[in-house]
Amino acid sequence: MPTKLRIVAAILLVASVAPLHADDERDRDRHRHHPRPEAPRLEALYQGAGYDKGLVAVANPHAAEAGAKILEHGGNAIDAAVAIAYALNVVEPQSAGIGGGGFMLIHLADGQRTFAIDSRERAPAGATPGMFGTLNFTQASTSGISVGVPGMVRGTAMAVQRHGKLPLRRVLQPAIELADRGFAATPRFVSSPNCASAASRARVYPETAAYFCPGGAPIPVGAVVTNKPLAETLRTIARHGPEAFYTGEIAHAIVEGQKRASAGGQPGTMTMADLAAYEATRRAPVSGTYRGWTIKGMDSPSSGGLAVMQMLEMIERFPIGNAGAGFGFGSANTLNVMAEAMRTAFADRAVWMGDADFSYVPAKGLLHPTYTALRSGPIAPTARMSPNPVAGDPRSYDTVALRRDATLLAQAEPSFAGPGGSTTHFVVGDRWGNLVSYTNTIESGYGAGMFAGYYPPGCADVSCFKSYGFLLNNELTDFNFVPSANPFTGKPATNDVAPGKRPRSSMAPTMIFDARGRPVAAYGSPGGSTIINSVLNVTLNVIDHGMTIQQAIDAPRLSVTAAGGAIAIDVGNPAAPTPFDPAVLTALRTLGHTVNAPADIGSVQFVAIDPRTGRLYGGADARREGTVIGVGKPGRD
Ligand code: GLU
Repeated sequence: MPTKLRIVAAILLVASVAPLHADDERDRDRHRHHPRPEAPRLEALYQGAGYDKGLVAVANPHAAEAGAKILEHGGNAIDAAVAIAYALNVVEPQSAGIGGGGFMLIHLADGQRTFAIDSRERAPAGATPGMFGTLNFTQASTSGISVGVPGMVRGTAMAVQRHGKLPLRRVLQPAIELADRGFAATPRFVSSPNCASAASRARVYPETAAYFCPGGAPIPVGAVVTNKPLAETLRTIARHGPEAFYTGEIAHAIVEGQKRASAGGQPGTMTMADLAAYEATRRAPVSGTYRGWTIKGMDSPSSGGLAVMQMLEMIERFPIGNAGAGFGFGSANTLNVMAEAMRTAFADRAVWMGDADFSYVPAKGLLHPTYTALRSGPIAPTARMSPNPVAGDPRSYDTVALRRDATLLAQAEPSFAGPGGSTTHFVVGDRWGNLVSYTNTIESGYGAGMFAGYYPPGCADVSCFKSYGFLLNNELTDFNFVPSANPFTGKPATNDVAPGKRPRSSMAPTMIFDARGRPVAAYGSPGGSTIINSVLNVTLNVIDHGMTIQQAIDAPRLSVTAAGGAIAIDVGNPAAPTPFDPAVLTALRTLGHTVNAPADIGSVQFVAIDPRTGRLYGGADARREGTVIGVGKPGRD
């Protein structure tokens, strides 16, 4: 059933007048004495209704409402984003939740600070580079061996306690209500488990199957679904704070859950000590410029920000937006340049990107203009690079130069994650000018497939399972499955498993800032390694092609996720498809690309803020159940 995009205006009930934004005051003062030229604008972003009190764009309508409620009741964008993350655990449990982790990119209007809270899962102390042994991917990814120490609870607590306006217990309330009183099952909640398929990840463990496919059948759309064990878990966190998740009964349930293994699989090694030691990390964003706009994204342990920025730097010398010069949206030249930039960046990613707290990631070198110019050199609008691009050597462009040695060699792309049901991206803007761009995940759809919990001794019947209501991630499969060496340094590969380390991610929460440093947009996507490419597509759509937010989201996307990879395309908004021109796809094939049949690429949620007025504009993706809710009065002043 096609998903529907809903635009809902919620009327703000709070009577108080929003305080004048400190920066507006400063700007006004400056303006009086030294008029400044207006910075270039992405005018198309400000079409339709702009909201003055807040806006959320989320891949699920119930969770969008949870966020809007928090904004209406005085919460800021950080409070609303955290409320959404918990609500999604209830209504989109296959994608993300407290059994997993993510990256929350935050822009605070106060002081104009942009930073990320990294709540990515960590490998337990017992993890080793060769721990996956001879397991195949299905065995590993449905067993405890792939479960990382979850980070969402610590990350969200850090965000709310340091930057929110409301207490964590208040922010958790909408999720508790959804879990306790229930919500109407959406078409995606019902179809995602694929109850009829024996290969369904929701069917690996019987108690999971019993929840998502009761009696072996899908839940009817509209049926009221509750998750009482999750309501209880969230109440415990609300009452006692994040400690209650990382110690005691809930931590015990996580440890017990990851002791399980699917047929031929292997249990995990996580202990109570691993959970107690988990810490979220505040990080500076990756930052670069593209055609005068500043782009900020997620740095290590994600490859998202670095890869997006590298591609933009490689693409910038081509007149992507100019149809008169043979480019423009959807032209063969534009798509080929995009594909070639993707192939080149993915070659670098395979060797150089991963958790910089544990391995050398030459981030400055990878984005050094001389290095990206060198990498862009072989890209031609009308040719496909052959042989395939291999990783470059950015070390001499990095601040710390290492010895040059060894042979150039790209590693195989180890990510097995497809878009499907996994991961979720959402955005929030508030009346004070704060923005949040948050990608959250349990890795595969349904994570490792098991709920935190256990069977009491002597009873293996589903009715005896003591559930805590949330699924455990399988994030550790984002590490290199088989340990290898960095071909340049001879050291263990950047993304090999190590205790306490975070697996390399592709998640790419992103923001655009204008020439005066004012934020204008926040967006991102799920989709495994295609995330990077969805973000690239949408960035070009708004900056080069001058699209409106919804056009930029609805347009078909192109994705290549390995140096030698095929081009995947999608048809765009499935409710109103606008596929790429078949003649252009034929032209790409003639250049030597393999172009695969339409795939499912991402689910982008987007918020724009007009720096002149502070009004918020949003768009959400009909590829899932994208929902935008504006808070306050719509208008254009
Ligand atoms: N685990 C993946 C990552 O961090 C995300 C999975 C997905 O989006 O499907 O890159």
